[in-house]
Amino acid sequence: MLLLDNHDDFGGHAKRNEFTIDGRTRIGYGGTESIDTPSSYSQVAKDLLVDIGIDTHRFYDAFDQDLYASMGLSKGILFDDKSFDARKLVAGYGRIPWQDFADRSPMSEQARRDFVRVQTDTRDYLPGLGYEEKYARLSKMSYYSFLRDLVGVHQQVLELYRRWGISFWCVGIDEIPATSIQSYDGGMPGLANTLPRTGHRGDEPYIFHFPDGNASVARLLVRALLPEAVPGRTMEDVVTARVDYSRLDRDGQDTRIRLNSTAVNVQHAGNGGSVDITYVHRGHTHTVRASRCIMACYNSAVPYICPELPEQQKEGLAYNVKVPLTYTKVLVPNWRPFAELGLDFVYYTNDFFKQVELDYPVSIGDYRFGSSPDDPMVLHMCHVHHSPDITGPEQWREGRRRLLGTPFSVFEDHVRDQLDQALGGAGFDAERDIHAITVNRWAHGYSYSNDLLWEPEWPDAEQTPWARARRPYGRITIANSDAGVDATTNSAITQAYRAVQEATAS
Ligand SMILES: Cc1cc2nc3c(=O)[nH]c(=O)nc-3n(C[C@H](O)[C@H](O)[C@H](O)COP(=O)(O)OP(=O)(O)OC[C@H]3O[C@@H](n4cnc5c(N)ncnc54)[C@H](O)[C@@H]3O)c2cc1C
Repeated sequence: MLLLDNHDDFGGHAKRNEFTIDGRTRIGYGGTESIDTPSSYSQVAKDLLVDIGIDTHRFYDAFDQDLYASMGLSKGILFDDKSFDARKLVAGYGRIPWQDFADRSPMSEQARRDFVRVQTDTRDYLPGLGYEEKYARLSKMSYYSFLRDLVGVHQQVLELYRRWGISFWCVGIDEIPATSIQSYDGGMPGLANTLPRTGHRGDEPYIFHFPDGNASVARLLVRALLPEAVPGRTMEDVVTARVDYSRLDRDGQDTRIRLNSTAVNVQHAGNGGSVDITYVHRGHTHTVRASRCIMACYNSAVPYICPELPEQQKEGLAYNVKVPLTYTKVLVPNWRPFAELGLDFVYYTNDFFKQVELDYPVSIGDYRFGSSPDDPMVLHMCHVHHSPDITGPEQWREGRRRLLGTPFSVFEDHVRDQLDQALGGAGFDAERDIHAITVNRWAHGYSYSNDLLWEPEWPDAEQTPWARARRPYGRITIANSDAGVDATTNSAITQAYRAVQEATAS
């Protein structure tokens, strides 16, 4: 088996970032954060996690769920001065009484009243309707419209929440149905008494996190295939294991992982009895002949690489417009300013980065999380381009164009400015306190998801664009999370399994 990947590391979105400070290694996640809600995984994905040595119960010990709350830390909001009366940081969102939070905010009198009302009111905003009818109405109504038209809040409250879910959906709340956003972030204000929550996480906490995110899942997968490349035996020791990249691609191995190799053409050969795969590696073009080929790259790229696919399938593949976003990691020598201000997360109502947050407090194997504010910390900052005037997938194409044209210096300037804005009051000095910045650009990030407002109703599951896209074609089958229109590791594993089954059955 030959695996080709254009990147210089394996794992795709599941990417590890490493930093060194005062002789200590700090690990961060450059992409895929967590095994989100493992109980919802398909059986094959659950089995795979077990097969590669992951026992998700161990995260209950590894992840310190109480650390930040026990220190009195919570979310803060940095209000901008375009939509609000002044630029101001207010800490204590969800921790202090809503009235106190409103009183400290730069919102107008009416907006404060509406803010407190939407947080505390126990009203059903669709009285007299049954669950099914409410669900049908709210799945066609954006959360923005719900707040504006049913709850009747002031424009400033709408501006406060406009980008709340942008790191997850990469659009504003005016394009997210109320039913999709309902359970996000512990539940969105105003909805709880109108539509009982059916959150996909249920009671499962968001704790299934390795320090490098799901890069450890990828490393465990590679260990299962090529044990000598990733030394060790357990899900704990993989966190600090040093990968021997020279052992990924050696003569005589049954499995070879070839990095820095971009597939550019895939087509049947030998009267359909094999597949020729042409790829570029270190400036040279090579062609390998295989009995089967699984395309595990992005759906939208497949029609260009496999021009022989039927037109209907190419249209289905092109439907999946990838979502661009960036994860920027910032190494700081301590997190005392966060502790002093009572913050573990800052949401910026309208700035380049939507948020800065402290890392997840996970100690696993030999890796110890820096649980004292005096310890170094890898901060997480997320940027998603937002064009309020563009709707639908076109905004992600625009976001991708913008991302490609944005140099590192722009990210760096915003990191400095936004950290100074939030933390300057507690003595943070960007010039002194920023030790390293890594920008992880995911121009082709999340898979297209079909839970946004513009999605048409598809009467027949087999005729959806994504179902047409993933049909096997001769000796070529289609994997990747895109095939499941779901940006999750669960989807990636489940779709990969299906593609392998189809390939081996043919
Ligand atoms: C920033 C970010 C955060 C995320 N967080 C989570 C999370 O917390 N939990 C979760 O479940 N999911 C998360 N996801 C989604 C999850 O990462 C993806 O669904 C999953 O990684 C997809 O895996 P995949 O193997 O299908 O594709 P990918 O991880 O995208 O891997 C595809 C690989 O194919 C390579 N490739 C593309 N074209 C070619 C070519 N022509 N030739 C050779 N190689 C090529 C790519 O470079 C890439 O390495 C996140 C995604 C992103 C971008």
